[in-house]
Amino acid sequence: MSLRPSSVLRAPAWLKRLGLALLDLLFPPRCAGCGRVGVLFCALCQAQIEPIALPVCLHCGRPYRGAGLCADCRRSASCLDEIAATAVFAGPLRHAIHVFKYDNGRGLAPILGARLAENWRVARRSADVIIPVPLHAARLAERGYNQSALLARILAEATGVPIREDVLVRHKATQQQAVLNAAERRANVKDAFICQGDVGNLRVVLVDDVCTTGSTLEACAEALRGAGTASVWALTLARARWEPGQPAPDRM
Ligand SMILES: [Zn+2]
Ligand SMILES: [Zn+2]
Repeated sequence: MSLRPSSVLRAPAWLKRLGLALLDLLFPPRCAGCGRVGVLFCALCQAQIEPIALPVCLHCGRPYRGAGLCADCRRSASCLDEIAATAVFAGPLRHAIHVFKYDNGRGLAPILGARLAENWRVARRSADVIIPVPLHAARLAERGYNQSALLARILAEATGVPIREDVLVRHKATQQQAVLNAAERRANVKDAFICQGDVGNLRVVLVDDVCTTGSTLEACAEALRGAGTASVWALTLARARWEPGQPAPDRM
């Protein structure tokens, strides 16, 4: 009798649990915010996440004391209806996003993605399709995953809104935005994205981890609007403190 590979590889559940427990013992998870051993992102760190202070500009989502749109948004046209974020890019959330992106912290996706789903539920948001901001193929190969796609999948699962990861393509290998100032960021991502799927008349929500100046989201929205979408808005995990005219914050 020949043993099929699947029956050989199928370990009993108790053995799998033991294996996972041993892995945890050898390589215990550490909090992405404070380093505490035993959890991925501890409750203390999550309690310190800074909400976006209201009121905000209805378009760019930055703090704005007036009504409607801030002076910068009134001056410049945009392909985005709105940019929303779940929290300020600071403190433990900033640390967690750094680990999530640059330190193989993909295990944080469910915890961080749940923040997007909660924002969606509370603000009663809607869209026809969820599209994550894509990475260039070379960056994707280097990192092994697209952090925005991981977040978008969690959001899609929680909301029931379909996700499309093949529609938007980053065909220009751009420099990392984190090291550039505002004008350089705009130039860096200009024409970096193409839309290659049928998104005609759909209401799209773009998902990304961090929004700083909004230039990446704007370049994505431009490509999508050019392909005939009905509307595009963006939801990001965090929003960097940044004012037009100020240099963009340095690399995290
Ligand atoms: Zn912590
Ligand atoms: Zn604004």
